[in-house]
Amino acid sequence: MTEGAALPLDRVAEGISLPLGLRDSVDTGEQTLVRASDDFGHIVAAPPLGVLRPRSEQQLQELLAFAGPRGLPVAVRGGGHSVYGQGQAAGGFVIDMTSMGSVLTVSEDRVVVEAGALWADVVRATLRRGLTPPVLTDHLSTSVGGVLCAGGLGSASHRHGLVADSVLALDVVTGTGELVTCTPEREPELFRAVLAGLGQCAVIVRATLRLVPAPQRVRRYRLYHADLSGYLADQRKLLHDGRFDHVQGQARLTAGPGWEFVVEAAAHHTGSRPPHDAGLLDDLHHERGTEEIEDLAFIDFLHRLAAEERILRVTGEWLRPHPWLTLLLPDDCVSALVPAVLGGEAQRDLRTTGLVQLCPLLAERLRSPLLRRPAGDVIHLFALRRTAPPADRAAVERMVEANRTVYEQARAFGATAYPINAIPMSPADWRTHYGPAWDTLARAKGRHDPGRILAPGYGLWN
Ligand SMILES: Cc1cc2nc3c(=O)[nH]c(=O)nc-3n(C[C@H](O)[C@H](O)[C@H](O)COP(=O)(O)OP(=O)(O)OC[C@H]3O[C@@H](n4cnc5c(N)ncnc54)[C@H](O)[C@@H]3O)c2cc1C
Repeated sequence: MTEGAALPLDRVAEGISLPLGLRDSVDTGEQTLVRASDDFGHIVAAPPLGVLRPRSEQQLQELLAFAGPRGLPVAVRGGGHSVYGQGQAAGGFVIDMTSMGSVLTVSEDRVVVEAGALWADVVRATLRRGLTPPVLTDHLSTSVGGVLCAGGLGSASHRHGLVADSVLALDVVTGTGELVTCTPEREPELFRAVLAGLGQCAVIVRATLRLVPAPQRVRRYRLYHADLSGYLADQRKLLHDGRFDHVQGQARLTAGPGWEFVVEAAAHHTGSRPPHDAGLLDDLHHERGTEEIEDLAFIDFLHRLAAEERILRVTGEWLRPHPWLTLLLPDDCVSALVPAVLGGEAQRDLRTTGLVQLCPLLAERLRSPLLRRPAGDVIHLFALRRTAPPADRAAVERMVEANRTVYEQARAFGATAYPINAIPMSPADWRTHYGPAWDTLARAKGRHDPGRILAPGYGLWN
């Protein structure tokens, strides 16, 4: 069978006869199934029976109403950036939402988008009107639906919270095939269960997102710190005084045996009056004379990872397995845990491949209740972005195991997972992860997806 072939049969498997309205739209071509059983992680591969590229919400309703009573798993694919099969559905259906990826309307304070739209398309449309979502993820090839399901953390999260926190309204199709519009006031329980809800209760069809005026330019600073304590002191200061519009950071291996820490901060401006560098930097503890400063158009700042991606595509690393781990750490364990992880023997590969992010966040700004975060006012995103060598299954397994070790180490200090990781998670792990929010999620799942067919790739349920 060839890629893109419309289903020539009305039966995708023995005993499964598709309803008429879906027969032309479910693709069972071999290449399509292979693609739907792969993702950015290249670690897990679970082939579905077919892939639906919906042309309307009615088709989504029809598929879910069909799959629910039969207990057929259904996953949604947007940008395909999952790293551990989260968007796959073994023996079921994948909904490829890129067929519903239009930016519908942009008005002065909001944009209405189909959930399969990529963030790059969203900002292209909003910037034409001089507007932007208040917070965006670092990478803009992810889909609106995929990021809203995860929550969405970015360089402006210290100020504006999650990408999901800027959602004003959602149109969703639940696991029972019901089309529902939800907002903080209308169907609030479903609204809260969908945002940062890992696609467990519904497929997002459309989202209305808040917009704010976009700056014309951005002044970007990289501030190198030789020691973690000076770095953390500066990050906490920047978090509380809010002098920068964007705050992130990285740990980088030095030419010597140790690590250095880089504050990555940026301030908006119009171009006619760039910010006064000394006023922004004078009281910080970075190594004087090593700071890097550049001035960028806002759009170039938003696409700041594109050049890196191009290089990684040329070297081939972009297409290798990515056993990534992202955690949220409580402030009081960072200075002990981060050096222990970076120096740990099991984490040796971090010294030779990948990227380590360490970014400060204010807990109160992350409002979607299903995003589980550690206790305390200040928390830190700690991301280990490993790349495995090609065709070395043992290395991938070692890295996944190393992720698990770090997860358990961090969990003992009260850390939580940003739940899009390459680690096996049992239903018991998920129950621990959600803590007091577990019952809320389980109730919403029981009501909106009683057949437990949606988003099986996370492994939340037995
Ligand atoms: C290079 C890279 C950079 C990243 N940078 C960031 C970052 O800066 N900040 C951040 O927070 N995250 C980041 N992520 C993580 C990323 O945001 C999540 O993995 C997100 O879920 C990816 O969305 P997607 O549509 O690309 O992925 P997909 O794999 O297509 O989908 C991911 C999950 O979302 C669900 N889903 C997708 N669309 C819908 C929908 N319409 N309705 C219901 N469920 C849906 C799927 O079922 C799947 O489980 C990054 C990932 C990569 C690979």
